[in-house]
Parts: sequence; structure tokens; C-alpha cells
Amino acid sequence: MAQTTKATRQNRTLTVDFQDPSTYFELIRNGQAFVEFVLAFILSIGFQLAHKATCTGGGYVTRHSHYARIRLGGLTIWRIQCTSCQAVFTVLPHFALRYRRMSPEVARQALIATHGGLSLEWCATICHISPMALYRLICALGQHSLVSVLVNCHLSLPAYILADEKHSTCLTERVYLPTIVSGRVIWHLGSSDSKSAAAFTQSYSVFQQAALDHEPSYQVRGALIDGFDSTVGSMRTLFPGARLGFCLRHALNKLPDKLVGVSASVRRGLRSKFHALLHRCRQRKSLRVVALGQRLRHFVNRIDATVGEVHGERIRH
Ligand SMILES: [Zn+2]
Repeated sequence: MAQTTKATRQNRTLTVDFQDPSTYFELIRNGQAFVEFVLAFILSIGFQLAHKATCTGGGYVTRHSHYARIRLGGLTIWRIQCTSCQAVFTVLPHFALRYRRMSPEVARQALIATHGGLSLEWCATICHISPMALYRLICALGQHSLVSVLVNCHLSLPAYILADEKHSTCLTERVYLPTIVSGRVIWHLGSSDSKSAAAFTQSYSVFQQAALDHEPSYQVRGALIDGFDSTVGSMRTLFPGARLGFCLRHALNKLPDKLVGVSASVRRGLRSKFHALLHRCRQRKSLRVVALGQRLRHFVNRIDATVGEVHGERIRH
């Protein structure tokens, strides 16, 4: 009964990067410096403290109380409080995990080892933790999809994406890792035994489903791809309204292979011309996007003239 009437408690635990444990132990001796460091850190990562709804602002944050985590060797943990709304925040240093005894570094190693296929028992043994602790860690952290984590971090779903598959090996098997990125953020990282369009569609649909769960009206407006048939097929299936573009970086990487039988020095020269063209386009110094198409056509015409029309045709494609 008591459980059902209780309002949901907001998680007010802040994990703060003190860079080095010694910095933390130095700072907790000085209340003012400690609070200032915590607030500067929160600001630097672009977050805000979750005050109570009743908070009128205008208050300041002060140190409230502390306690010792016995199982972490008596580590002192401080709480800070907003003087306006009385909200209390627990400040967890980066080298301690919430509710967990193992260090983040050990947790990371153990998770990587299990992900790589090592048994729970072996991972626990090499990391000096109990198999049960590792199992609980997997239950707690393994449930999150990239999309829900990033959306929780207040990132908006990407309207334009870049989709590509990394070819890799798992033991002796070939595997493909369908990946969706936008800017510097990875939104999807799958794994597939096959490079068929159906396999890629299934992998990319995990991203699509997670995004739709969060925002039912979500639509991808454009996708950059390398032109691989399975990627094209999966994008057309999942995001029929999206405009597909070919990634110029891939075109650049593939250029030398397309010029079979041409001397290395000529290939190098053409590649660097192409590179300079794209670089100037990215910097938008002297070249607008409209002009890029024109320059690319000139570039291919030059290949026609210098190394032959057969090569020109392939590059044009
Ligand atoms: Zn407040």
C-alpha cells in the first residue's frame, strides 16, 4: 500500500568526472571548492540540476550531508542541496558506480569480455568479481538501446543520417556491423552474419522501431550511403520518404581502384585533385554546392581526356 501511494522519486544522483581520484579526495575537504567544481562540471556538459517543480530559482547550492560507502573502502560521498527548493543531489565520483561495488573500469572490462563471448564465470574470474555481480550488471546496463540513452540525454532524433556497414570478423566468421551515425553521434550499431538487404533491413529496423517508440511521427529525411546495393535496399524499405545521397568520402576512397591499369603516379595525382575539390567544398571557401556538381563533371571530363573514356565512364558512375 505504501508503495502505490508514494510519488515516483526523481533520480538526483550526479556522476561527476573529477579526472583523478586524488582530485576528489582533495576537493571533499573544502566545501566551497567542492560545490563550485560540481556545478562547473554540470555546466560544462550542458546539463542542469533537476530541481523540484516548486523551485523558484534564485537559491544557491550548498553541501548538505555525507555518508561513507563501507563496501567501497569507506569512500565518502557528499550530498548537495538547493537552498530554494531543498532538492538533494548525491554527488558520485566517476570512479564509483551507483549501487555497485565494482569500479567502472572493472565493469567495463567485464562487459567487453562477456560481449566478446567469454562465459560469465570466466569473465568474473579474470576481473575478480562474482558471477552474480556481473550478471546483475548485464541486466542493468544491457537493457538500454542507444536510441533511448541518447534521447534521455536530450539529443533530438536525427533527420539526416549516414548509414554504413563495417566489415569485420568474429573469430573466423565474417560479420557486418550496420551503423547509423549523425555528426559525431552513433545512433545504431548492429551485427549481422549476412550482407543481404534483408539482413541489413532487420538490423536498421531496430533503430527505426526505437525511434518510433519515442516519437511516432519520426521520419528520416535524408541518408548518406556508400552505394552498396543492400544498403540502398534497406534504406528504401525502411525510410521510403528519405532522399538518398552517395557519400563523397567513399567515392574518394574508391577512386584509385576504379582506375585499373593506370600508373600509380597518375592515380595519385587524380585522387589528390579530387580530394582538393571536396575539401574546398566542405570549407565552402570558393565553391558552392551547386558549383560542386559542375566541378565534378569537369573532373570526369579530364579523366576522359587523360586516361581514356572507359575509365571516365566508371568514375562518372
Ligand atoms: Zn531548487
